[in-house]
Amino acid sequence: MRYIIVGGSAAAISAVESIRSLDHESRIDLFSDEETPLFSRVLLPYYVAEELSKPLLNFRTSDFFDEKMVTPHMGVKVTYVNPKDKTIKAADGKEYAFDKLLLATGGKAIVPPIPGIDKEGISTLKTMADAEKILNMKGKRAVVIGAGSIGVEACISLTRRGIKATLLEQLGQVMPTVFDAEAAAIVQQRIEDLGIEVITGEKALKFTGGKHVRSVVTDTRELPCDMVVLSVGVRPASELALQAGLTLGDMKGIRVDDCLMTSAQDIYAAGDVAETYDIARNTYFLNAIWPCAFEQGNIAGLNMAGQKTLYPGSYRRNSIGNFIGIPAISMGVTHSDACAIQSDEDEFREIRVRTKDSYKKLILKNGKIVGAILVGQTQKAGLMSILLRKQVYVADSIPMLMSDRLSFMDLLPILRRNADQFSEPEYKELMDTGL
Ligand SMILES: Cc1cc2nc3c(=O)[nH]c(=O)nc-3n(C[C@H](O)[C@H](O)[C@H](O)COP(=O)(O)OP(=O)(O)OC[C@H]3O[C@@H](n4cnc5c(N)ncnc54)[C@H](O)[C@@H]3O)c2cc1C
Repeated sequence: MRYIIVGGSAAAISAVESIRSLDHESRIDLFSDEETPLFSRVLLPYYVAEELSKPLLNFRTSDFFDEKMVTPHMGVKVTYVNPKDKTIKAADGKEYAFDKLLLATGGKAIVPPIPGIDKEGISTLKTMADAEKILNMKGKRAVVIGAGSIGVEACISLTRRGIKATLLEQLGQVMPTVFDAEAAAIVQQRIEDLGIEVITGEKALKFTGGKHVRSVVTDTRELPCDMVVLSVGVRPASELALQAGLTLGDMKGIRVDDCLMTSAQDIYAAGDVAETYDIARNTYFLNAIWPCAFEQGNIAGLNMAGQKTLYPGSYRRNSIGNFIGIPAISMGVTHSDACAIQSDEDEFREIRVRTKDSYKKLILKNGKIVGAILVGQTQKAGLMSILLRKQVYVADSIPMLMSDRLSFMDLLPILRRNADQFSEPEYKELMDTGL
């Protein structure tokens, strides 16, 4: 058996580990067009804030490839996949044969065609090279365009370095795919409390300056700056899949089956590039977050090494607490209308509780959790996440779920009623002992 993995991040490394848990001998070649191995992208904002040095970004030790008997090809881009001959071509000019191939090519930062975009001092924040570029930018004023999770984190990182930052978002609220308007208002207030100017509902129309950026012009004003971080979204890096004739989904990610195999035999996809079944939305979706990439890499690896393992489906979960000073978590959908409707009988409910310093929202579809937002008090996020993942009926337990004192023990009746869905040893033990 000969394995090739394209990509070197969460999905790729997780796949290496699961392949090696079953196959201790076969050759694994791993290609990444990034030079730096084994760093966690999630930690890049801390690097930009000068709070973590480069070695501390690693999520595996530097002997990982030796230990797992992997031949790494760092800084080498894979340029061509031939699904019929089962070969790939790489930018080193060589051709490599595979029996099983994993495409874990992740996402690419979107660069909008705004006039002046090529000026110096403008960068996305996706790769290690981007982070180094931002770290080396000189100046006192920054504009961050796009108030999604990465934009908010980048903005706060720059502020922590003493740079005066403005966060510009064209939609009407911060973190529009993560929070509803009510939670976003709390989060925005916290961001402003850190000394950041937040402008929503305004679009960047052009960048001014000579060689170097000097300002961002919006519909209504000019924002002087020395640097710009662009954070307007990520798209799946599906070029290789497209070239190889693999089926893409509606969101242009690689469509995979229950075992994470693509439309081509023995070619798998996992992570930000893979469009997988979303439990909360009841449709195929791109959930571009680290835990999903890691789970998918694990399952793809097991299937590649011959152990048939079904992927239960993905759902989004995001947390911004470490950056804004109060815990804020959301999972699944933020509004019921984000769910694909199965039939006219589908029934949706949104339950909200707001106190002075907390906000809680549950979204139910046919009595099952499809989304939750927790701001201020997030201790129960793990329990909500389990109930969402397992898709069990909870409509008769709403007061308990919304209570501040919810504990794992309170879930026993739900667990017992759905014992077939909680067959894992940890749940079984709990139900048997009643503890
Ligand atoms: C700044 C930042 C902060 C984030 N924070 C969080 C967070 O707090 N929580 C969270 O859950 N998620 C977060 N994410 C998202 C998370 O990092 C991604 O979901 C995760 O990294 C996806 O892993 P992946 O393996 O699918 O792909 P990626 O991490 O995108 O890696 C894919 C790799 O493949 C390489 N590649 C692509 N094409 C080729 C090719 N043809 N040949 C060779 N190599 C190729 C790419 O260069 C890249 O190195 C953050 C992302 C960023 C950028």
